[in-house]
Amino acid sequence: MITIDGSEGEGGGQVLRYAAALSLLTGEPFTIENIRGGRAKPGLMRQHVTALEAACTIGDAKCSGLAVGSSSLSFQPGRVKPGNYNFAIGTAGSTSLVLQTVLMPLLLANGPSHLVIEGGTHAMAAPPFEFMQKALLPILSRMGPKVSIQLERHGFFPRGGGRIVVEIEPSALRSIECLERGAFMQGRVEAVLAGIPRDIAERELTAARKVLSEWPDDAFTIRQLPGEHGPGNALLVEAEFENITEVVSSFGKLGVPAEKLAKSAARSMAGYLALEAFAGPYLQDQLLLPFALAKGGAFTTVRQSEHTRTAAKLIERFTGIKFRFSDQGKRTKLVEI
Ligand code: AMP
Repeated sequence: MITIDGSEGEGGGQVLRYAAALSLLTGEPFTIENIRGGRAKPGLMRQHVTALEAACTIGDAKCSGLAVGSSSLSFQPGRVKPGNYNFAIGTAGSTSLVLQTVLMPLLLANGPSHLVIEGGTHAMAAPPFEFMQKALLPILSRMGPKVSIQLERHGFFPRGGGRIVVEIEPSALRSIECLERGAFMQGRVEAVLAGIPRDIAERELTAARKVLSEWPDDAFTIRQLPGEHGPGNALLVEAEFENITEVVSSFGKLGVPAEKLAKSAARSMAGYLALEAFAGPYLQDQLLLPFALAKGGAFTTVRQSEHTRTAAKLIERFTGIKFRFSDQGKRTKLVEI
């Protein structure tokens, strides 16, 4: 039985989601205390409960202490069963993060799976749909399994109501090297809005264009969704290279000016473009689990995040696999097993 202090390192929901995934993958039970102890509102939120319920459903697992507000639980894994599953979060909690919990166990299961996940698709502090579709999943497909994902409906904070559909064709994971991102193909900035004035999107694009001034005018577009899908606003900044697409996102929030939000996303992208790293700051921690399961491989990335440090330690506790982090050139890191 592995005992985890959920307040260590990043101290967020990732510790819990990765622990559940690792437990299903290794058969090792765990208990966790101080869940999300590093967050302003610690304990389980609705989306974490759904993520753990999803892990229990696909993995025939038993979990005690699973309730909104709970700060400790124990998890006893069973056998992973591929199949058709529907997980509804019931809030704008992230559909991508529920997927993050069950994805790797289902990728290595003994049959295909079809998932419908309902909740938020474009909300703060989580990967937006486009990040999963364009940044993470193509890399997993390169490692062997096939995963496709569709956005059936957007879901913004606070209303939620979004829906993604995921098809998973498992296979063994082969180790790969992701050292070079290859030639720059194109940049895109899309302001998505639902039920809010169009000039917000226009102001975002104007601000983003000032930072990404070398990108052509037709790279900046507005996507207007039906009003009843909102209110909501997301800015998606994408850089497509031969070997990787980086997706940076920002989400509209009451009280935060459109210009500020757009400038911050565009500057993050400019920071990534200025380096030669393959994985951006968020892809970094999300590649660790697949690379550990492939028992090898390497990727270059930007400065190491706290999410990455925390995930690497957790993976080592469950599997014994150690990552090596070294400097490679100016401000670029090499992560290897
Ligand atoms: P936690 O904060 O512990 O709940 O974990 C959040 C997870 O979402 C981590 O795996 C992050 O890498 C990921 N994440 C957070 N924000 C973004 C973003 N803007 N784009 C992509 N992934 C994100």
